Amino acid sequence: MTAAQLRSLRRVLLRWYDANRRDLPWRRNRNPYSVWVSEIMLQQTRVAAVLDHYARFLRRFPTVKALAAARESSVLAIWSGLGYYHRARRLHQAAKLIARERRGKFPRTAEDWSDLPGIGRYTAAAIASISFGEAVAVLDGNVERVLQRLYGQLHTKQTSWQRADILLDRERPGDFNQAMMELGATICTPRAPQCLRCPLNTFCKSRGAEQPRRQAARKRTAISYALARRDSSVLLVQRPANASLMAGMWELPALAPGVTNGDAPLLQVRHSITDTDYRVAVFTASPDQLHDFATNGQWFTHRQCERLPLTGLTRKVLRRLSLASKDSAGESICH
Ligand code: SF4
Repeated sequence: MTAAQLRSLRRVLLRWYDANRRDLPWRRNRNPYSVWVSEIMLQQTRVAAVLDHYARFLRRFPTVKALAAARESSVLAIWSGLGYYHRARRLHQAAKLIARERRGKFPRTAEDWSDLPGIGRYTAAAIASISFGEAVAVLDGNVERVLQRLYGQLHTKQTSWQRADILLDRERPGDFNQAMMELGATICTPRAPQCLRCPLNTFCKSRGAEQPRRQAARKRTAISYALARRDSSVLLVQRPANASLMAGMWELPALAPGVTNGDAPLLQVRHSITDTDYRVAVFTASPDQLHDFATNGQWFTHRQCERLPLTGLTRKVLRRLSLASKDSAGESICH
């Protein structure tokens, strides 16, 4: 593209963004703390799934100081249901570093943000450009797809970063980065790009000519859990600290595959985690199971559950069985 074309593309895209951007809570200010929290939550997670958690998280931890002072279990409790819990742990670790070693001062450049736990090249560039106006381009899945269609070529990662940098508007880098991501999320979508509505239509080499990629088939599996209740408490077990998924989170005790306790389940629900769809059945724990589970598990009253990091599935089950509800802050509570 010529310099004049590049200028024109930037102008057109920013104008489109100004008129069409979604009103998302993390776009209402450029505070680095709230931008950072939103960027971490949005990694591999849909906007719709993040909205509630984002509001709840900022209510509970309104500043980096408050987050740094919290216990990890409290951070995980608020994160419960959002998945990819290593994100919450690293966010918490980074908050402690900022509070203690930088006396609460946020880094201002992408390079300095990258030194913190859980912050890769994309996240560092997003925060530095949005909050501090640094002229660094972002490249996430949405931007990469837009670039490949725009140039009509498949690129290596390195070339994509270079292309993103060439396109970047140096005057409004944060808005331009968000405009590219917004275009990928709402117009230049993976399966059905809306080229007729696209502001970059006249610049685009492919205009949606690329065949949609077939999505990988999702895995399906069935799992069962046991529910044990005593007075107003429920029995939960903790996942191992070295588990690859949801380490240290609390959940209902799992039953061995095929065990049904001979009864109809109390509840059946569907639950999806990453690329797997689960059919979940919950049975009343038998006396023998109760004995086994009680050895490794722990009884929790509703008050204790208020701040417990539950897995998203366990929270969902307890709510469906009316054993958990939302308090005024939206946290899960067992009854
Ligand atoms: S014209 Fe179509 S393919 Fe090209 S960037 Fe726009 S939506 Fe994507």
